[in-house]
Amino acid sequence: MRALDHSGHSAEAATLPSASPRKASPIRAEGSDLLPAALAANFEGFWKLPAGMLGVERGEGMTAVRLAPGDGRPADLAPVSLPSLAPVGITAPDMALADGQAIVSFDLYEAMRRFYFEDFRGRTAVVSRAASLGRRLYYLARPAIPRRYQLALRRRLARTQARPRFPAWPVDTTLDDLRSAVMSAAMAAAGRDRVPMLGLWPRRARYGVVLRHDVEGSEGVRNVDALRRIEEAAGLRSIWNFVPERYPFDSSLLTDLQQAGHEIGVHGLHHDGKLFSSRQTFVQRAERINVYLSAWGARGFAAPSAIRKLDWIAERLDIEFDSSAPAAEVIGAQPGGCATVFPFLLPRAIVEIPMTAQQDHTLFEILGRRDIDVWLETIRLVRERGGVLVLTVHPDYMTSARLDLYRAVLSRLTEDEEAWKALPGDVSNWWRRRSESEILEHGDRFEISGPARDDAAVGSAALYSGGLAVSPS
Ligand SMILES: [Zn+2]
Repeated sequence: MRALDHSGHSAEAATLPSASPRKASPIRAEGSDLLPAALAANFEGFWKLPAGMLGVERGEGMTAVRLAPGDGRPADLAPVSLPSLAPVGITAPDMALADGQAIVSFDLYEAMRRFYFEDFRGRTAVVSRAASLGRRLYYLARPAIPRRYQLALRRRLARTQARPRFPAWPVDTTLDDLRSAVMSAAMAAAGRDRVPMLGLWPRRARYGVVLRHDVEGSEGVRNVDALRRIEEAAGLRSIWNFVPERYPFDSSLLTDLQQAGHEIGVHGLHHDGKLFSSRQTFVQRAERINVYLSAWGARGFAAPSAIRKLDWIAERLDIEFDSSAPAAEVIGAQPGGCATVFPFLLPRAIVEIPMTAQQDHTLFEILGRRDIDVWLETIRLVRERGGVLVLTVHPDYMTSARLDLYRAVLSRLTEDEEAWKALPGDVSNWWRRRSESEILEHGDRFEISGPARDDAAVGSAALYSGGLAVSPS
């Protein structure tokens, strides 16, 4: 049930080779004013209310959101409170309803931008402790230290995580909570308890599901077959992210997967943790990465170890989508998270598809779990909100017990007819088309215009006692 996403940094607009399949977009058409346009695409463009119904005005450290008046009596209290924005350095955020609009005491787009790009001013003290514990656990647990010490470390980490902190684990939705709180206040101020919106997913699906595999080494290459067979038997397909210059593999493996309906993505260049170590390194490697993207017919990128800088990625890589930002990362090389379970638009109309589920490596290798409870909980949450589930499983770590666990998750997903199981390239294509489409109101009838016309539906956002629910119908 809630909301959406994102933003951008300025980036050069027109350096794509003409062979790029990416189309011109409203974001690029804005010229130099890229950031507000990208952010608007992730607020107004997330809700996609009927044309002309929603207005956003940003002023000196304030934002006013107004809806066309409804039939109900306007409220003067916000129905849902704002989440803590302390992680992005906004203390004591306030929201008031006045004059038929919702007014917040900060720049809404700037707050969203800081989450999307993980610009965490003010959060340092909160996250650093989790980070250092996570790192210690990571490095200590790998060598064969006695199991009782491993357990002690795990218990310690669990206690730390149980305290309220950012990011929430296993999923953080602070940005979505923010977006929904503001929209619910605007609805209350306008006397509306329900608004029509362009459905979040095609054909009235409730949420999106993406299966992803990062192939880390030769062991992973050897295990591709076992893993894909399980998926294909369930009628599913996935994205396989390969590292171009780390291990040998036959390029026929890529075409073979593609011909069977899978997607291929590029996973860094060397997977050595240094891709973003300096601007120069990144720029040089980005050129090589672009060569592999083109040669492999790949539409997307996934940064190794989720070490990421989305603004650099969006500026340099010739991609349609990126999937490098975790929604919530506590244990790992770069703790943080973009705090949303929805795709969001980056500059150059690139779609970021956040990694919303904890990776198999974190759950099985680091935390030593032998069940899929965390994944099931994540599926429940993403489904309830209407976001996108990105499930990452490395063929490198697939024991037969874990293959069984994976099979169990897949059967949970296949039996859910309201889940749109899609390749990430299709998700990004949809998200871009949706952002370029709109609902037109003709009396009591709606018409959808734009590139999503054929598979989009009109859904709704409705206030209920606990918040705002987004529904595909
Ligand atoms: Zn990797």
